Amino acid sequence: MKKAYLGVDIGSISTKGVIIDEDNNIIASKYLYTEADPINAVKRLIKALKKDFDFKEYKVVSVGTTGSARKLIGTILKASVVKNEITAHAIGTTSIYKDVRTIFEIGGQDSKIIILENGIVTDYAMNTLCAAGTGSFLSSQANRLGVKVEDFGAIALKSKKPTNIAARCTVFAESDLVHKAQIGHKKEDIIAGLCKAVASNYLNNVGKGKRIKAPIVFQGGVSKNIGVVKAFSDLTGEDIIVDKNSHLMGALGVAIMARKSKLENDFDFDIENVSYETRGLECHRCSNNCEIICVCRDNKIIDAWGNRCERGQVSINS
Ligand code: SF4
Repeated sequence: MKKAYLGVDIGSISTKGVIIDEDNNIIASKYLYTEADPINAVKRLIKALKKDFDFKEYKVVSVGTTGSARKLIGTILKASVVKNEITAHAIGTTSIYKDVRTIFEIGGQDSKIIILENGIVTDYAMNTLCAAGTGSFLSSQANRLGVKVEDFGAIALKSKKPTNIAARCTVFAESDLVHKAQIGHKKEDIIAGLCKAVASNYLNNVGKGKRIKAPIVFQGGVSKNIGVVKAFSDLTGEDIIVDKNSHLMGALGVAIMARKSKLENDFDFDIENVSYETRGLECHRCSNNCEIICVCRDNKIIDAWGNRCERGQVSINS
């Protein structure tokens, strides 16, 4: 039986999973929406991956998790590796593009930039506060314009004269978009303007002061939007590389880390009917009042975190 490795990237908007073999080839993958319920999302993810997984040839021997809910999901999946998104994306990307020097990443609700030299991360920045340059912003503007967000890029490419849209924040962008539509700008020009606004907002915020050098790889859900890809290419004067698995790079990276960890135990795909829940506690032993998150499986605490010192430690299996 050949060994396989599962990587899960769980964010606030989307949940991604890949299973790789010993040579980092993706042998199963799935992308779905988190729907504000990471535990249920990961159960759905594992169920979907199970359908595509070849149990006769492979067995999953190690798991890695990344993304904003990585600790919670790492506990549930008994992960060997729990890593931040910067490391996961850098490792996933360099496994395919060894000479990459800049990674643009725009997801559903946040964005990040990673600068590399010889495959090593030398600088990075994340933006989790402003939604103006993210996937959820583009989705809401697509709804407003009565266009499917998947069609956004193709429509944007028809534009000869993108409309200038002020995109410093969502409120400005929305009112400017309504105004430009009312004074008669064409829909394709407004959509191309929005794509350009997302790219320039990104470069002026998360990319501010960063040494952006080619090769540039663009990933995250928004990299599927060819209008934004073109806008990045126009603004940087460089070719922008988008991999066919650009939405899965974080999951791929953490699967590779799980493989390299050499920490192995057979993974059980049957988590669907196991009941997991989280409970919040507060430690009042000092004025820090730490909020402690407990993950419970069948009513027993299997992990807890959030305490800043040992006095607030919660006993496991209680
Ligand atoms: S866990 Fe430690 S630091 Fe946090 S409130 Fe309790 S005693 Fe204070």
